[in-house]
Amino acid sequence: MKKEKDPPSDPLPGVVDFSNTKIAFEQLSDKELKKMYRLFRLMNIPWLVSLGSRLALLANRLRLPFFDTIVRRTVFAQFTGGENLMDCTNTIQKLMNFDTQSILDYGAEGKSDEEDLDYTKDQILQTITYAASSDAVPVVSMKLTGLVDDHLLEVKQSGKPLSEQEAFKWERFHHRFDEICQLAKEYRVAVFVDAEETWLQNPIDQIVLEMMLLHNRDRAIVYTTYQLYRTDALARLKRDYQYIKENGCIFGCKLVRGAYMDKERARALEMGYPSPIHPDKQATDKAYNEAIRFCVDHYEDLASCNASHNLYSNKLQAELIRERDIVKNHAHLNFSQLYGMADYITFNLAKNGYNVAKYLPYGPVKEVLPYLIRRAEENTSITGEMSRELQYIRQEMKRRGLK
Ligand SMILES: Cc1cc2nc3c(=O)[nH]c(=O)nc-3n(C[C@H](O)[C@H](O)[C@H](O)COP(=O)(O)OP(=O)(O)OC[C@H]3O[C@@H](n4cnc5c(N)ncnc54)[C@H](O)[C@@H]3O)c2cc1C
Repeated sequence: MKKEKDPPSDPLPGVVDFSNTKIAFEQLSDKELKKMYRLFRLMNIPWLVSLGSRLALLANRLRLPFFDTIVRRTVFAQFTGGENLMDCTNTIQKLMNFDTQSILDYGAEGKSDEEDLDYTKDQILQTITYAASSDAVPVVSMKLTGLVDDHLLEVKQSGKPLSEQEAFKWERFHHRFDEICQLAKEYRVAVFVDAEETWLQNPIDQIVLEMMLLHNRDRAIVYTTYQLYRTDALARLKRDYQYIKENGCIFGCKLVRGAYMDKERARALEMGYPSPIHPDKQATDKAYNEAIRFCVDHYEDLASCNASHNLYSNKLQAELIRERDIVKNHAHLNFSQLYGMADYITFNLAKNGYNVAKYLPYGPVKEVLPYLIRRAEENTSITGEMSRELQYIRQEMKRRGLK
């Protein structure tokens, strides 16, 4: 286990003080704070996370109830709203008590069976209906790999002609996604579409832009996602914005750095094509922060969500909003962090009057397991934002006099 450093002061003092741990953890009781501390310390042990992830996947396949209980009491409780919408209600209300909205995400991905794909669509429609009845849930998020077979996306991306059966499946997918966007528009609930692996992403981008043209005439309903670790992302963001604008619609986008870096690099190496990912973190950060500037500069017809746990990137957007004298809570300028992480960013932004929402996944444990494993792996980072988070939790425990 790593040695803890002294609690940090805010390294970038400015428009929001992110080192205010009283505000950051106000929503947690002493018991909850201590539980979070224990879990984050465990997740800081790389070998434990690696072993735990493999065992959890195996236990899930073998349906071992023992592991289900462990997962449920630890990462599932920390990073999700529960198994169904009703389970999420208390969490949504609790977040709202601290001026933080929720982005609901039914955690299905990597589906292939047509029945499963229809089931995911029905869950998303229910989520939109639920969101329509609550001011606390302005957005529903989804992965299109929950609505269409990955393999079909790959075939589509390759440019090969589809077989008759594939064309039929593609039509069904198109219909599912269209039904979702139509209901979202009717209920004025926004839809965020996640970005996934590069070898599936072109047809996803294409269909999302198509839906934007259909549904974003008066307001931003459909949002696409840019992974700024991709060398081509910034140019695509600018090009797509121009295209949507020229067609008289409002552009909607979510900015992320990107979650599949190792997988992307490994595949490029194995298949002998240039890696689509920036060569280093610095280049990703530069592109990300440039994308934020672009979104703030065009906020009148560009609605964005800065989806990041990076302190500097969050601070940058807050500073730009102030510099340009824009109202802090303009509907086109949003921030989001994942539920259970980066509370020091979320609640300090909320307290200062910015639009901020937690990304709140829900679903049966077996469905959200890949998401939970990504979170646990992200949290083993020694130097990153996670380490900072652990230090802030410790600082708050000290402030409350907890051991
Ligand atoms: C609300 C929300 C929604 C999200 N939706 C998506 C989504 O749709 N699709 C998706 O892929 N991810 C998504 N993510 C995850 C996101 O892409 C990042 O993995 C995660 O947020 C960590 O990045 P960061 O900006 O928070 O901070 P940081 O910790 O500053 O950045 C870490 C990220 O930097 C990049 N990076 C790290 N090392 C290098 C290197 N050596 N070279 C190049 N780049 C490097 C990687 O992208 C890594 O994840 C989402 C995250 C949030 C908060």
